[in-house]
Amino acid sequence: MAASNNEEALNGVHGHQDNGHQENGVDDIASSSQVLVVGGGAVGSLTAYKLGRAGIDVTVIEKLPGVSDSPRACGYYGAVHFMLHEVGLYDLIRKEGFMTRGLCWRKKPTDDGKGGKASGDMIAIQPLSAPNDTTFEVGAGLLNLPQADLNKLFLREALKTGHVRVHYNTELVSILENDPSTGVTVRLRNNETNAERKLHASYLVGADGAHSVVRKALSLPFPGHTWPERLIATNVMVYNEIDPIWHTFFVIDPVHYTIATPLEDPVPGKTTLWRYTIAAAPDDTRKVEELITDENIMGLYENCMAGPRPLQVEIKARTTYKIHQRCVPTMRKGNCLLAGDAAHVNCPYGALGLNTGMLDADALAETLIMILNEPQKYPKADDLLSLYSDERRKVFQFFVDPTSTQNKLRLHSHPEETASQEDWLFRMMRDPSKLSPRQLEELARPYYETWRTDMRKLVGDLA
Ligand SMILES: Cc1cc2nc3c(=O)[nH]c(=O)nc-3n(C[C@H](O)[C@H](O)[C@H](O)COP(=O)(O)OP(=O)(O)OC[C@H]3O[C@@H](n4cnc5c(N)ncnc54)[C@H](O)[C@@H]3O)c2cc1C
Repeated sequence: MAASNNEEALNGVHGHQDNGHQENGVDDIASSSQVLVVGGGAVGSLTAYKLGRAGIDVTVIEKLPGVSDSPRACGYYGAVHFMLHEVGLYDLIRKEGFMTRGLCWRKKPTDDGKGGKASGDMIAIQPLSAPNDTTFEVGAGLLNLPQADLNKLFLREALKTGHVRVHYNTELVSILENDPSTGVTVRLRNNETNAERKLHASYLVGADGAHSVVRKALSLPFPGHTWPERLIATNVMVYNEIDPIWHTFFVIDPVHYTIATPLEDPVPGKTTLWRYTIAAAPDDTRKVEELITDENIMGLYENCMAGPRPLQVEIKARTTYKIHQRCVPTMRKGNCLLAGDAAHVNCPYGALGLNTGMLDADALAETLIMILNEPQKYPKADDLLSLYSDERRKVFQFFVDPTSTQNKLRLHSHPEETASQEDWLFRMMRDPSKLSPRQLEELARPYYETWRTDMRKLVGDLA
């Protein structure tokens, strides 16, 4: 295995070194830990950070040699800001990232009369702050930082607590024991040398993503469905002609609906990195390699991208992915807990994927802090773990799943000419300045209240 703390991925920040053990084998992993986190993605790293900050000893294992750079989430908002602020990370993320004011839905670009295309008309706006906001109080605006950078920041801060160890190239093979009274014993493997060893922890957090080995080892099904179309995600350098105020935008289309969001501060007059994610046709059976050719992608950009023609853009990264709506029947089995994509997946429209996972991490870490650090006050560990599972599943079932589903359907179910009359949200948000404070509050409330789970308050309410 690489050194416990991958210096390159973590920008040289050193964590808790396990100097008494050899460096190049699974032997350098402590044989026990209070909490084992499987998966060093953003959700696992945030869980480890919050636990480490509370003085809890955490081992993180990650099967990759470092943080994944695949193009994924970027924007964080609503209750997530307050959670990140409370755990001391908001300002750090803001320093590395940038703020935008909100999003909008557009028709397809139209002829600009100069041989190019102008941005399509706005159908509706979702402001997350005032249109002239430049200060952005916590909770306002969209906080942007590409997922890989966010993940590295979480790991760096987790290591700084001095209670977290991170082991790359290390994967969970099996769960040997999972007993509420004695804890969890697992078998791990160094995927470079194939060396294996056992580790014991009081609790195991499965934050190992949509294909979770923890979920499978616990024999948990993943009921739900997979949408027929694939999404083509591209990172692309685009010239910013104007300041559109609402930078992130959807382009509605019956087939090739699109979301575009900046990955770097989109300063007008500069060329910066954007993410364009475009739906392939549901009946398009071409192989991935064919979907991500320059030719195919540039053809799709023609439909959704404004600017002079021929388009002057440079594609920097490309991938395809399937989208699902699925949730486990429980996020807790014995002393093993699931969080993030390991527990639930949904289409990414509305940024309800990683944001929901981070709020799982927050609730789960708080639950484990109550159990491990305050046993006199919270003696019913079993009830607390089940409460975590029940409450986070409720959030998925009643908020994340239906909202992300409707966010997706809204993008391809209405002709662009009639969308703003047909759909209630488009109709309301055509001019949000005309909405009453009560209407605005009603729309925003789930993102500030329902989404996050306050474990301490819930336990207080139950007492
Ligand atoms: C193209 C794309 C765009 C997206 N856009 C957004 C967005 O805009 N907003 C949003 O909120 N969400 C978005 N999402 C969803 C978001 O990326 C996921 O919700 C998020 O990655 C979940 O984080 P996670 O830590 O739970 O899982 P992951 O990020 O998948 O991390 C899991 C980690 O576990 C590791 N692992 C797996 N198996 C093992 C094992 N056996 N042992 C050890 N380690 C293991 C993996 O290598 C990985 O590093 C997007 C997703 C995609 C694919």
